[in-house]
Amino acid sequence: MKTISSLLDKEWHERYRKISSLNIRSSIYDITNQCNLRCKGCFFFSSDEHEASTEETDIEKWYQFVGKEKERGVNLAILIGGEPTLHLDRVEAFYSQLPSYCATNGLIKISRDRFPDMMVGVSLWGDENDEKTLRGKDTFAVSSKNYEGDPHTYYLYTITPKQVGRIEHVIKKIVDVGLKVHLQLLTNEENVDGFFWSEENLRDVRAEMDAMLDRYPRTVISCKYYHEIITTGTMMNRKFGWAECPSVTEPLDKRNPQPKSLIRFIRWASDLKTMHRCCTSATRDCSTCKDGAAHMSWVMVNKREHLQSTKDLQNWIEVYEMFAKLYRFIPW
Ligand code: SF4
Ligand code: SF4
Repeated sequence: MKTISSLLDKEWHERYRKISSLNIRSSIYDITNQCNLRCKGCFFFSSDEHEASTEETDIEKWYQFVGKEKERGVNLAILIGGEPTLHLDRVEAFYSQLPSYCATNGLIKISRDRFPDMMVGVSLWGDENDEKTLRGKDTFAVSSKNYEGDPHTYYLYTITPKQVGRIEHVIKKIVDVGLKVHLQLLTNEENVDGFFWSEENLRDVRAEMDAMLDRYPRTVISCKYYHEIITTGTMMNRKFGWAECPSVTEPLDKRNPQPKSLIRFIRWASDLKTMHRCCTSATRDCSTCKDGAAHMSWVMVNKREHLQSTKDLQNWIEVYEMFAKLYRFIPW
C-alpha cells in the first residue's frame, strides 16, 4: 500500500482534500407507507415493507425523532417512502433540522417557497414505453413540467435492459428541460418478463453509460469507475453482495466477518421505531442487487484498497465526488 501524497499530484490532492473533510453520515427514512403509483419492481411494495410498520401520525414525534437523529450524528437525511410528497409536513420536520434529500416520483410538485434548496431526486424508469409498462404512466410528462430548470433537482434514471442502445433519447429529454441526471440500473425485483440483465447487455450498457458521460458532461453526474462497478458487480476482484454490502442497518448487522460499512447507518420505517435491513428491500437476493447508492458506498468505504496505484485512487476520488455532488456536499 502506498501513501496518498505519493500517488497524487497537486490538483488531485486538492480534490482529495475537499472530499476527505466531508465526513458524511447518512441514514434513510421512510416518510410514509403510501404511494400514488405502484411500480412493478418497486422494492418497497414488492417486499411488503409498507406493512412492516404503521405510520407515526403525530408531527411533533417526527420533529423530536429528527432531533435525536441529529444528536446521533446524522448529517444527511435521505427521505424515501412510499412517496414522501404525500406528507410534506414530515419532510419539513427533516428539512428544518438537517441537510435533506427527497426522492420522489415527481408527480407532486415540491414548493420552492417552502423548501427553497432541498435536494430532490426524481425517479424515472426508462423511456415513455417502459414507464407505461412498469409504472402505468409516463411520469416524465408530469415531473418534467413540475421541475423544469430547477437547480436543486436531478433525475434518477433507472436504466432497464430494454433501454440498452436507446439511453440518449432520455438524456436529451432531460437536457431539454434543463435538469441533470444520475444513472442507475433496474433490479428486476418482481421478475417482469423481458427486464432481466444478461452479461452481454450489461457490457453494452456500460459502454453506453460511458458514452453518455463523454457526450453530456454537464448533464450526467457520474464517473466511469462507477459504471464499471455497477455493471460488473466487481471491485478489486471482489464480488458485490451480502458479505460486502456497506448499506446494512448498523444495529441489525450481525455479519461475521464484518465488512467495511457506513458508520451509524440506519434505514428507519415510518413508525420511527422499526428498522429495515438495508437501503433497499429485506427480501431482495443480494447477488442480483444493482442498487446504485450501495455500490457507490461500497467503493467509498474501501479507500485503503484503492491505495495501490494512482489510477485506483483517482477512481475512488471520482466516486466519492459523484456521491458528494448528488447530495450537494460539493457543487456540481
Ligand atoms: S413511485 Fe417509488 S415508492 Fe412509489 S411504487 Fe414507484 S418505486 Fe415504489
Ligand atoms: S439487497 Fe442490496 S442493498 Fe440490501 S443488503 Fe443486499 S446488497 Fe445490500
